[in-house]
Amino acid sequence: MSRIIVITSGKGGVGKTTCTANLGMALAKLGRQVAVVDADFGLRNLDLLLGLENRIVYTAVEVLAGECRLEQALVKDKRQPRLVLLPAAQNRMKDVVSPDQMNTLVSELATKYDYILIDSPAGIEQGFQNAIAGAKEALIVSTPEIASVRDADRVVGLLEANGIKRIRLIVNRLRPAMVQANDMMSVQDVQEILAIPLIGVIPDDEKVIVSTNRGEPLVLSETTSLAGTAFDHIARRLEGQKIEFLDLNGQQDGFFSWFRKLFSKN
Ligand code: ADP
Ligand code: MG
Repeated sequence: MSRIIVITSGKGGVGKTTCTANLGMALAKLGRQVAVVDADFGLRNLDLLLGLENRIVYTAVEVLAGECRLEQALVKDKRQPRLVLLPAAQNRMKDVVSPDQMNTLVSELATKYDYILIDSPAGIEQGFQNAIAGAKEALIVSTPEIASVRDADRVVGLLEANGIKRIRLIVNRLRPAMVQANDMMSVQDVQEILAIPLIGVIPDDEKVIVSTNRGEPLVLSETTSLAGTAFDHIARRLEGQKIEFLDLNGQQDGFFSWFRKLFSKN
């Protein structure tokens, strides 16, 4: 049975595409056949993060228009042959695709791939509806910031309303020193507000930005990094392996508990 997982957040710029690229690559490295789907129509950049932008010939829109077959649109990764990308159209409006059509594409991918990871756009409108249409599971990405957590909370409700019950949390861009100084929410703060199981914590790490700019997901790198290891661990947890959480020493209960209380009243 293949796993169809949407990576979503509500808020933009929190690391959805970064997570999709790294988790896709990490799962492929673990021996799985993986398709990553860019559902951010109009503002695609999963191709860039994977360094595959020059190899795109067709996109999901041409597949749906019957202008090419699905296999023709899939871009194979030369570094990791078990990974393919289904690109989104760059220049067409996001409402050219409907949730039903996305569902069809994803179901077809599910006949050949172990994992289908869908990179969601920001927001909760049509693009979001498309991204979640075929998904059976969701990974919510949130940074430890109030706006991000509040948007994530909204999205959890929408996912549940759409029948997606297996929802797990990735806390991205954690800065332990800031947490210790009570200048940033802790992982515990975020998790208690969202009340969904945690699958991983990724530190804020400039190596992520460097890898993004190079089009080389961090998990491909020979040199180990905390963020790269964190992505690898999330991939392993998706696979059902029991892996201890990295010690990023940011578990203090502090200043931001007021924000948690605000939520528990609702
Ligand atoms: P989204 O897809 O949610 O809009 P992106 O994955 O495009 O977000 O990430 C937004 C920006 O944040 C990018 O410049 C990316 O390099 C940076 N970023 C994401 N995760 C991290 C991290 N853990 N550490 C440092 N920078 C990060
Ligand atoms: Mg993105």
